[in-house]
Amino acid sequence: MLKIEKAERLKQLPPYLFAELDRKKEEARDRGIDVIDLGVGDPDQPTPKNIIDSLCQAAQDPRFHRYPSYSGLNSFREAVCLWYKKRINLELHPKNEVVSLIGSKEGLAHIPFAFINPGDVVLVPSPAYPVYKVATQFAGGIPYEMPLLKQNGFLPDLGAIPPAILAQAKMMFLNYPNNPTGAIATREFFKDVVALANRHNIMICHDYAYSEMAFDGYLPPSFLETPGAMEVGVEFHSLSKTYNMTGWRIGFAVGNSAIIGGLGQIKSNIDSGIFEAVQIAGIEAMRDDAAWLKEMQTLYTERRDLLVGGLRKLGLPAELPKATFYVWCEVPKNHTSASFCAHLMEKVGIVATPGNGFGAPGEGYFRMALTVSKERIEEALDRLTRVGF
Ligand SMILES: *Cc1c(COP(=O)(O)O)cnc(C)c1O
Repeated sequence: MLKIEKAERLKQLPPYLFAELDRKKEEARDRGIDVIDLGVGDPDQPTPKNIIDSLCQAAQDPRFHRYPSYSGLNSFREAVCLWYKKRINLELHPKNEVVSLIGSKEGLAHIPFAFINPGDVVLVPSPAYPVYKVATQFAGGIPYEMPLLKQNGFLPDLGAIPPAILAQAKMMFLNYPNNPTGAIATREFFKDVVALANRHNIMICHDYAYSEMAFDGYLPPSFLETPGAMEVGVEFHSLSKTYNMTGWRIGFAVGNSAIIGGLGQIKSNIDSGIFEAVQIAGIEAMRDDAAWLKEMQTLYTERRDLLVGGLRKLGLPAELPKATFYVWCEVPKNHTSASFCAHLMEKVGIVATPGNGFGAPGEGYFRMALTVSKERIEEALDRLTRVGF
């Protein structure tokens, strides 16, 4: 009998904190309970029709049936440059400052392999999207967690990172607008990041997945707007959340050409790019998208106001996010993250994500995603009002 033994890189992963909740969700559904799932960060609405039509048409074209180019169609990379030019007036070179990604998660997961040697430190926020830390560990790097705390506006306290860590650090991940806290970054903060990067020779990887999902006229700054940012970092971007395209797997990274080049080199040894018909659809998505963005932002604004208003009425101190489709909220005093989310699941059939699942500093919080209709949000609030906590 073969002994199948996992590699250390898998064995070292912490137990999956959401597994227990997933099990409870399945169990409740099996019992016939009408579960309201506020757990997943996946848009419930379909991809806009013009994008689907564009894919259907491109899929008929035999030119797009062959292996794609590694770094992406020239026309796709040019569309990305045009987007940055329009959005923040930044001139990018499509040849060496842009690379297409099979979803931004793919690029975030691969970038440590291009630059991190065993023992190098990577600064990662916590709570956070789990990929930054896991990818660092897969590459043999040592993650150093920067806590995101309420008293700092959920920005890392750069001054609190020990000098010995800064001396060993080679890369830093950031994500604003932020998942899971819904926090936003100021331009001042990004300036401090660039200064730190230069002082300590640290590459900056900014995850900008929620760049367009913002409310009340707020326009989240790009890291690359910051003077000097192009010399120290790259920005990861996704079509997933902006255009309801999570299933399509398309994103991109832009910025410093040496960093983009390293990522591209890893990728060309592992994958073979994105189906070109999907890239054609991606170009269509980014083209002339003002009306769509407004529609998307209005939808989430209404849901946000309803959910945050309802939670506050119940005495839960939900933050009003300026961006992202997440509501981040402290659990009631008598609960932990886990016990509160278990209570919601068992007593009222509501799925919320326990904050500690994103990292220890998320303990004491839960996250709800605005990915269900207003009717379902109202139903969830009704149930909560009836049952209490
Ligand atoms: C959803 C999400 C992503 C992943 O986006 P894809 O382009 O679909 O891979 C990346 N970062 C954050 C913070 C996310 O929430």
